[in-house]
Amino acid sequence: MNTIIKNIKRLVQVEEKPAKWVQGENMSKVQFINDAYLKIKNGIIEEFGEMNDLNLTKNQESYEQIDAKNGMVFPSYCDSHTHLVFGETRENEFIDRVKGLTYQEIAKKGGGILNSCRSIQILSEDELYEKSLERINKLIRLGTGAIEIKSGYGLNIESEIKILKVIRRLKENTPITIKSTFLGAHAIPQEFKTSKEYLDLVINLMIPKIIEKDLIDFIDIFCEEGYFNLEDTKRILIIAKKLNIQSKIHLNQFNSLGGVNLATKYNALSVDHLEVMNDKDFKSLVNSETMPTLLPGCSFFLGIPYANAREFIKRGLPIAIASDYNPGSAPNGNMNFISSLSCIKMKLIPEEVINATTINTAYAMGLQNNLGSICVGKKANIFITKKIPSYNYLYYNYNENLIDKIILNGKIIK
Ligand SMILES: [Zn+2]
Repeated sequence: MNTIIKNIKRLVQVEEKPAKWVQGENMSKVQFINDAYLKIKNGIIEEFGEMNDLNLTKNQESYEQIDAKNGMVFPSYCDSHTHLVFGETRENEFIDRVKGLTYQEIAKKGGGILNSCRSIQILSEDELYEKSLERINKLIRLGTGAIEIKSGYGLNIESEIKILKVIRRLKENTPITIKSTFLGAHAIPQEFKTSKEYLDLVINLMIPKIIEKDLIDFIDIFCEEGYFNLEDTKRILIIAKKLNIQSKIHLNQFNSLGGVNLATKYNALSVDHLEVMNDKDFKSLVNSETMPTLLPGCSFFLGIPYANAREFIKRGLPIAIASDYNPGSAPNGNMNFISSLSCIKMKLIPEEVINATTINTAYAMGLQNNLGSICVGKKANIFITKKIPSYNYLYYNYNENLIDKIILNGKIIK
């Protein structure tokens, strides 16, 4: 199906050539065209420009016409960090936390990541798929056009493969672009005495099986006190490099263990969380190939400090912002809300948030040549807003769904 979208009040985040990413001062700049049109052919962006210059060639006369009715057009959000495939929600732990129980006390009552692991074990692959599909369909309607999903609620070979198979089915059966990450090293199961002992199993048993089944795009590990140490993280980075698979690392959420420096040395694709950063951590990111990824939804829900987004930009670095959608610390995948939150709590201006949730998160999924902007040759994953006074209004009006139409691969979804 080929389409022309007319009467676009503002076509946002246009690019002549796909940028690798946007960093430093440039994060505050977003290119746009007012009173614009957009042509889509075979699911790919074919051409765009000002309405005044709109010409139709003979074969474009048959294109389906969509009237944007003065709404704005954005590239879909790219959400580069989620744990969307999980079993049950964890609202009981939430209430315990509201009542003042600590994370450790909740874990003692059987809560936390290990709680999510139990619910994965109980569910069949089909049940897990249905639950996850419902969540993905909701996110599509909220403007997300590409998403990364991690395993990590299995922590044994059968359950990890169950999650990764569900991710594969979502890839095959939904119009959204999905990347799959193996996070076998998410937490240490109770039956293991040390992180090393469990990691031996991850590296020697799980990874070969998962590679054999061709189930993953990336490898991840949670580098944090009480989880996996620097030595464990190095082992994961080495095996990923050997397998020619890029790594994305959870680190610096509560402590800086030196993982940022290590991850950049191994050209990790992204380092995620970064609430706690020292000077050396920042310096290792300069001139690296690694995208710093911030997850404000988790800080909001847990009531803990936010990453210092302004400092990254001040040092000339890029930042990406993702939802971290998961049942324990961020039960929300709505990128509109995450964007508002980034303005309100991390003091970013809308342009910086747009770059952080499109081009830069596309890079953090290895998709910068296909998604993340309005650029000829990129996939036509976009949304059309309702009539809004300016794009600042999207971030100001944080509680209303202002999206009118969703288009993925050139096809209207909603
Ligand atoms: Zn996470």
